[in-house]
Amino acid sequence: MAQLITGIHHVTAIASGAQKNIEFYRGILGLRLVKQTVNFDAPEVYHFYYGNENGDPGSILTFFPYEGLIRGRHGKGMLNTTAFSVPLASLEFWLERLKKYRINYKPPQERFEQEVAVYFEDADGLGLELIFTDNDSRAGYANGYIPPNHAIKGFYNAEIWEEGYERTAGLLTEQLDHVLIAEKGNRFRFAATNSPGNYIDIVCSPDRMKGLSGSGTVHHLAFATPDKETQLAVRLKIVKRMLNPTPVLDRNYFTSIYFREPGGVLFEVATSGPGFAIDEEEDHLGESLKLPEQFEPRRKELEEQLLPITFNDEQYK
Ligand code: ZN
Repeated sequence: MAQLITGIHHVTAIASGAQKNIEFYRGILGLRLVKQTVNFDAPEVYHFYYGNENGDPGSILTFFPYEGLIRGRHGKGMLNTTAFSVPLASLEFWLERLKKYRINYKPPQERFEQEVAVYFEDADGLGLELIFTDNDSRAGYANGYIPPNHAIKGFYNAEIWEEGYERTAGLLTEQLDHVLIAEKGNRFRFAATNSPGNYIDIVCSPDRMKGLSGSGTVHHLAFATPDKETQLAVRLKIVKRMLNPTPVLDRNYFTSIYFREPGGVLFEVATSGPGFAIDEEEDHLGESLKLPEQFEPRRKELEEQLLPITFNDEQYK
């Protein structure tokens, strides 16, 4: 059978404030805000999508910013670090940039071959990394204030912490088309497609406390599937593994199913299309609030509840 899962689609995290979130990801990291919409399950909360120029699968980090929400805790059963890919020669540029905006970071450490990781956190404590590598042929998104040769190219990997890796590994390899491609110490790397943007690292962390949801934590990890037909085929495999997937849900820019993997992380399988250009021009992605059909009649009320956001581009040049 053809491959049902092609790699990572997106990562969705929880934040404590919309404006702070925009400043960090659009401003400091220079990602493109490809969509401003609302949480379809709680429309009084924004849903921001950041990514590369087109918001391609494997580049999309999304947030639900709940104003004033208390912090969660990193731990077992959680995706704790979302890593972005940048060129090896950009190490100095990014360390300088992090310093400039007073972001603490851990000293660079070599992980697998030709891969240097620098860990830091956003204002809510969300775990992030820049992976400096020359193994990534994707183009970076040049937003005007990050020089193109230093721009983030998309994700590199997502790191989840588990009590043990076997049950999650079983699900990844038997139902989700992943294979083990590398391991080192307590880190096991899987991929559906062996390229940056698609690596899932399971880090066995039996001595850690369990993660607690809150701001600065990841809500779910989404895998990409080509279309609705392959999505239904994956759903059937998940049912056969005795997990409980949701029905197919319409997320406007893709359709989704969700289920919890045995270690506790919420997984989603999202279709690669139709993508972010279905309700606004490609040149103007993310510039204004987009609502799905069901919430359009409530636009005025929702706009009054959502705190306005501004793009302070000058500060980030
Ligand atoms: Zn999602």
